[in-house]
Amino acid sequence: MIDLRSDTVTKPSEQMRAVMAAAPVGDDVYGEDPTINSLEERVSALFGKEAGLFAPSGSLANQLSIRMLVNPGEELLTETNSHIVRAELGAGAVFSGITTRTWLAPRGLLNAQDPLAIAKPDSGPYLVSTTAIAVENTHNFGGGTVQSIEEIKKLHSETQKLGIALHLDGARIWNAHVASGVDFKEYGKYFETISVCLSKGLGAPVGSLMLSNKDRVTKARQWRKRYGAGMRQAGILAAAGHFALDNNINRLSEDHKLAKSIASAVFAVAPNVVDPKTVDTNIVGLDLTGLSIKASDLAAQLKENGILASALGPTYLRLVTHMDVTAEDIEKVNQILPELLQRSFVA
Ligand SMILES: *Cc1c(COP(=O)(O)O)cnc(C)c1O
Repeated sequence: MIDLRSDTVTKPSEQMRAVMAAAPVGDDVYGEDPTINSLEERVSALFGKEAGLFAPSGSLANQLSIRMLVNPGEELLTETNSHIVRAELGAGAVFSGITTRTWLAPRGLLNAQDPLAIAKPDSGPYLVSTTAIAVENTHNFGGGTVQSIEEIKKLHSETQKLGIALHLDGARIWNAHVASGVDFKEYGKYFETISVCLSKGLGAPVGSLMLSNKDRVTKARQWRKRYGAGMRQAGILAAAGHFALDNNINRLSEDHKLAKSIASAVFAVAPNVVDPKTVDTNIVGLDLTGLSIKASDLAAQLKENGILASALGPTYLRLVTHMDVTAEDIEKVNQILPELLQRSFVA
């Protein structure tokens, strides 16, 4: 099977497993795991942040950040199709007692004016006060889109005046960096809190970090334990993260190239389904609106041909490239997928 459902499906390589097996470990709840400590220092320094906190999932790294920025009864603004509001099962409401309001953006692309138009800080006794805004980069359900650093800067300078904090959901910030050339420290400048995932395109089996200043990270460490995610000799997991950072960032450009080639192959037969120019990173979103085939049917037909893709809506099919698929695999996809689409035109 050529598994393009997500970049989370990557499996740890032999070398990664060897590094994990050899990692020095200690009890991380006591702060004594050297491999976790060095990973937290490494990633926070990479983004120019004071401190970092290792977490078992990106959702938890997001939720710990939200916990630090937004008090119960206050609101977080985010894009309508962001992971925080669509794929974390209401965690912000359940764990932090916060409310959310959303703005809708084509392909999830940030236009600073959109959140600023609905932001209501210090709303007094009647209305909910906005205390934070989350930005997702790259934007997953937007099709792996890279946010403009100019829009991020604009949003930062305006929210500073309003006393509103910014959170970066950087699960795939590695892809954004490789595609845009923007330095990690540059991204780090504009956000009070950041979450990053090692378990997506970087290929680690587990692991995310929450990054911020010392005070927030110290408090988030308590909340992590309270949520039941205080891990012990988890340095074997952090070692996979070190390995991923050492070896797997620059190679993401390969994934991006292969994703674009899928989009080009589809565009050649069905130009309304995807525009290769909009495929910035490793995610290809196919919009099947106006075609007779449903996303779930196309996914089923692909599966019969040995290809797995995600039907994320009735007319939306997602394919994600990653380190466990080869150029030959994608050549096969680029033959079969256009054929199936063409067949649906005559059916
Ligand atoms: C994957 C992902 C996360 C975190 O997901 P987990 O499965 O909880 O690790 C957060 N944000 C975005 C945009 C993601 O794609």
